[in-house]
Amino acid sequence: MSDEKAKRTDIGTLGEFGLIDHLAKNNVQYNASTLKSIGDDAAVIDNNGLLTVVTTDAMVEGIHFDLIYTPLKHLGYKAVVSNLSDIYAMNAIPKHITVSLAISNRFSVEALEEFYSGIYAACKAYGVDLIGGDTCSSNKGMFISITAIGQGEKEKLCYRNTAKVGDLICVTGNLGASFVGLQLLERERQIYLSNPGVQPDLEEQKYVIGRQLKPEARRDMIEAFAKNNLVPTSMIDISDGLASELFHICKQSNVGAIVEESGVPIHPETELLAIKFKLDPITCALSGGEDYELLFTIDPKDLDKVKYLPDIYIMGEIVERKEGVKLHTKGGNIHDIKAQGWLHF
Ligand code: ADP
Ligand code: MG
Repeated sequence: MSDEKAKRTDIGTLGEFGLIDHLAKNNVQYNASTLKSIGDDAAVIDNNGLLTVVTTDAMVEGIHFDLIYTPLKHLGYKAVVSNLSDIYAMNAIPKHITVSLAISNRFSVEALEEFYSGIYAACKAYGVDLIGGDTCSSNKGMFISITAIGQGEKEKLCYRNTAKVGDLICVTGNLGASFVGLQLLERERQIYLSNPGVQPDLEEQKYVIGRQLKPEARRDMIEAFAKNNLVPTSMIDISDGLASELFHICKQSNVGAIVEESGVPIHPETELLAIKFKLDPITCALSGGEDYELLFTIDPKDLDKVKYLPDIYIMGEIVERKEGVKLHTKGGNIHDIKAQGWLHF
């Protein structure tokens, strides 16, 4: 053995996306049926012409959720929905999920029943079947890992690396509400911890809290695309914030983007609360995350197909890579959009 100390690199130096790229660089595909591997919302497997779309996500207590303000039923629902959103982001239809859990003895059977009532409610709402999973013990807290499996058609699947210069940048729904809802819940948590007698009054902020605790995936949009014969040129779901997701599309498609601030949809309740918390609403929309809306690009010739669809906002254009990823503010200035992503480490 050599006396030389083994090299130790702190994972914080790479960040989440850098770490995935680093670990994935030695990944070898042994099967021609692997049409899409690491790098998109979901992987795509060719089963003799039928395409299977697979995604998996983990949630850790204390990092992704706090049980002080997250009802277990909502947690189960959200854990499923966040996975289904990745399947829809491929323009595919989720059909099956597996659920794996690590739990400490702090959780009772009744608490887990409550969690599963949320899982079953999501299965019913989105027409997916729970087909298996795994259960084991954890020393502390709860760990959830869900895999979603879906079906897609080769000509309709949407990737992150296929946006083209001149395409229009569109988004479903509105952005930033979930992040603002989280700020509100975190604030209530602090108040509760310092004074457990005080009951929160969140009645007036129902919308943003709903967006944080019980998000929905945009199945309706995927169905509307199919009905209108629209196939986006690229697509991603917004789990880490608009800025981060736009960066993924631009980097992988080797293009730039210009987004109009006036085109970024923000709900009035989000705007009001952001200002109350001394946050800039557009920053919440760009960097918030957990919106589970779809960010997609379309060929301008398809403009008529989206113009009359409800809940779709056209907010910018794909440009040459050298032009960067920019925000054109309401005041007429141009800023670089910075991808933050979540730095969990
Ligand atoms: P999303 O936010 O859409 O769920 P992620 O940013 O979590 O996507 O993941 C991006 C890509 O990296 C996906 O293809 C995912 O499967 C892959 N990935 C993430 N973590 C790992 C890992 N530890 N090993 C292999 N692939 C991973
Ligand atoms: Mg995704």
